[in-house]
Amino acid sequence: MSNAESPDTTCAVCDKDLTNATGVAHIYHEGRRFALCCPVCVQLFQRAPARFASGERPQTIVEELVSDLKWKQPGPL
Ligand SMILES: [Zn+2]
Repeated sequence: MSNAESPDTTCAVCDKDLTNATGVAHIYHEGRRFALCCPVCVQLFQRAPARFASGERPQTIVEELVSDLKWKQPGPL
């Protein structure tokens, strides 16, 4: 397919525009390269790479993963 969508210029997790961003991390998953804007997004991506790679509404996954993280963190919100 010749879909010119380039995940390389947007964060695969939070969908932030990375065109002029610095410190962008890249992760390879199943032969594709994904850009991540920050260590938090890298961590989230690594928790569910297949789901982010599928391109399905990352925000839903992020909410799931973040609530999962909250469960593991002691103390009040
Ligand atoms: Zn991000």
